[in-house]
Amino acid sequence: MDASDELRSLEATGIYRLAGSRAAFVDPVRLLGESYRRFRLVPSAYYSRSFGPSRQGGEAQAEGTAPSPDRKKRKRKRQTKARELNAVERIAEARHQEARPLLISAHNSLLDAKYLLEYLPGMIKGDECRPELETSSENNFVELGGSWRAPFYEMTICFQKPLGQDEAGTCDVQKRSSPLFNRVVRVEENGEAEGEFQGRLYVLPKGSCFMTTDFTHVRDLIPDNPNTGYNLIVIDPPWENGCVRQKEAYPTLPNRNLLYLPVQELAHPAGALVVLWITNREKLRRFVEEELLPSWGVKDPTEFYWLKVKSDGSLIGDLDLFHHRPYECLLLGYINVNREAESGSKFKVLQGSQVIMSVPGAHSRKPPLQKILSEYIPGPKPPRCIELFARELGSGWTSWGNEPLHFQDSAYFSKK
Ligand code: SAM
Repeated sequence: MDASDELRSLEATGIYRLAGSRAAFVDPVRLLGESYRRFRLVPSAYYSRSFGPSRQGGEAQAEGTAPSPDRKKRKRKRQTKARELNAVERIAEARHQEARPLLISAHNSLLDAKYLLEYLPGMIKGDECRPELETSSENNFVELGGSWRAPFYEMTICFQKPLGQDEAGTCDVQKRSSPLFNRVVRVEENGEAEGEFQGRLYVLPKGSCFMTTDFTHVRDLIPDNPNTGYNLIVIDPPWENGCVRQKEAYPTLPNRNLLYLPVQELAHPAGALVVLWITNREKLRRFVEEELLPSWGVKDPTEFYWLKVKSDGSLIGDLDLFHHRPYECLLLGYINVNREAESGSKFKVLQGSQVIMSVPGAHSRKPPLQKILSEYIPGPKPPRCIELFARELGSGWTSWGNEPLHFQDSAYFSKK
C-alpha cells in the first residue's frame, strides 16, 4: 500500500499503518464512530484538549503568580537531572531507555508520512467546531451513584423499531425505563438508542451493554454461563498516584483492591486477551508484574506503548522528561489460550512491542483498541469484549465502571 492508500484506509477504518516500523496511527473518532448509524462523534469535542491553551508552550509567568505546569515540569526535570537517581528511578530510566529506540522509530515514521501530517489538523477540527463543552452541566454519575437515591434513579430509553422491510425505513419509536445504577442495561442490536436522565440525553450504541456500579458490585458482571465470557478484557484502573489533576478528574482506588477484580471468571473458556493500562511508576509496575497479573492468571505480558502527539505530529512533551513521559504503557497477555489452541480456533499470538500513536482526547481518555488488536484476540468471532472502569460504550462491548455513560452525553455527538 502506498501513502495515499494508507490515508484512504485511515479515513475508512481509523487506522494508518506506518511502513517500516511496528507502529500505527489511529483516529479514535473514526474508530468509535463505527458504533453509530444515526449519530457521529464531533471531532472538535473529542479532541477538545488540542484547542485549549498550550500546556507545552512556554507561557511567561507573571510576577507573584504560581508557576505554570510547564515551568514546574522543567524545574523538576532540572532537579531530577541534578541529583543522582535513586535505585527505583534507575530501573525506571533503564526501562525508558529500552523503549526509546522503538518510540523514536515510530515517531520518525509518523514525521515521514507527509500526507498524514497534512491531514491531521483537518481531522481533529472536523466540520463542526465545538471544542468548548459545557461540562459543568453534565451529570456527575460518580456522585449520583454514591447517593441514597441511586437505587431509585431510572433512565428512559428511547429506541426505534423498524416497522417492516419498506424502503423508506419507517420506524416506530418505543420507550422503556430502566434502573440506571447497579443493573445491566442492554441496547438492542438493530440501532442505537437515546437515553434520557435528569434532563440530559445519552447516545447508546446498538448492541452495547453497560453497568454503572461501584467496585464493590463488580462480581455482578460474572456471566452465569462461562460460554458468554469475554475474549477481550480491557482494564484501565483509577490507579492511585500523586497527580492532583487526576484526583480532581475522578476518584482513585487503592492498587491492592484490583487483586479482587474477577478477571479469570470473566474470561471466555476459549481464551481471552487481557489488556491493562498502567502508569509509568516503577513501584506500580513491580506490583502489576509480580502480583496483579499472576493473580489473574496472566503470564509473560507483552508491552505496547501509546505515544501521544499533537495535531502537527510533534510529541505532546519531551520524550525524556522523567516524570511526564509523552507515552503510556499497556500490558497485554492471555488467559485460557491453551484450551483455545486445542479447539483449533485461529488467532495470531502477540509477539513483541508495538506503538499506537494518536492525538489525545480528554484527560485520561484512551484510544479504542478492539480493531487494532483484532487479529490477536482468541475465541469465537466477533469477539465478546468488556472494558472495566469504562467511561464510554461501544457496539459489542460491555462497559462497566462508576461512570460508563460519561462520554455518551449527546454534547459529544451530532445527528447525521
Ligand atoms: N478508560 C477510560 C477512558 O478512556 O476514558 C478512563 C478510565 S479512568 C482511568 C478510571 C475510571 O474508574 C474513572 O471513570 C473513575 O471514576 C472510575 N472509578 C474510580 N473509582 C471507582 C470505583 N470504586 N468503582 C468503579 N469505578 C471507579
